[in-house]
Amino acid sequence: MSTVYFNGEFMPLESARVSVLDRGFVFGDGVYEVIPVYAGCLFHAQEHLQRLANSLALIRLPNPMTLEEWEALCKDLVVRHSKGNQIIYIQVTRGAPEKREHVFPKDTAPTVFVMTSPLTPPTSYTGETAITHPDIRWQHCDIKSINLLANVLARQAAAEAGAAEALLIREGHLMEGSSSNVFIVENDMIKTPPKSNLILPGITRDVLLGVLAAANIPFQETELTEAQLRTAQEVWIASSTRELMPITKIDGIEVGDGRVGKHWQGAWELYQAHKQAVCQA
Ligand code: PMP
Repeated sequence: MSTVYFNGEFMPLESARVSVLDRGFVFGDGVYEVIPVYAGCLFHAQEHLQRLANSLALIRLPNPMTLEEWEALCKDLVVRHSKGNQIIYIQVTRGAPEKREHVFPKDTAPTVFVMTSPLTPPTSYTGETAITHPDIRWQHCDIKSINLLANVLARQAAAEAGAAEALLIREGHLMEGSSSNVFIVENDMIKTPPKSNLILPGITRDVLLGVLAAANIPFQETELTEAQLRTAQEVWIASSTRELMPITKIDGIEVGDGRVGKHWQGAWELYQAHKQAVCQA
């Protein structure tokens, strides 16, 4: 039975219960975070917990813990489970007041939930498919909001097309995946959309850019059009759970020569070496 942290206590998952008046349930009024754990080691925990702090600040919900307290809590939960690979999920909502009312409640404690599940990190990739999908989300995609309906609908469309990801297009521009950031290679240059309010500042994205910079591999953070996506040599997606996934077919059409590219291969190897260096994983 899995142990979770819920509002100040560790308990079996089955015992954790939220009120139907929880603002996460009635308004989607909350944020979340996901941290990969390799062989019991939290990977870039500070960056993930800082993003959680940023998401909370953007929705004006006071952070219930310091970064150090969050990290200690996550480590405590991890050691209660296996020493293996895990994925930590944190969710904080604006709590469960007595009545449903849009305006922020006064004196209502936030709901804090943390769980961990087994993670099977990818060991290699042979090329995955993606679809494009209109980005129908709001103007604050930089908040890791629990409101994921637009992402869910896009990802479902991908699943129904037998594809691994939906690449979101907003006004002719490539933004990110439904649950990943996106990279393309054009004229042998690695490119990814710049951070803005319209994409999630992915930790995997940032870690990868850091690893590329350290290896003196040039890249550009630049706006990308749908046309650039469709003529790219290589397309990759990046996320904590999928790490760096090469996309070799988009909307049924091959990317480049339809095979996993050499730039992806190099970036993947650097990323794996970085994981090993940080976590001996
Ligand atoms: N964009 C979106 C919309 C996401 O949901 C995710 C995964 N949470 C990412 C990007 C990648 O973020 P990370 O690398 O921090 O997992």
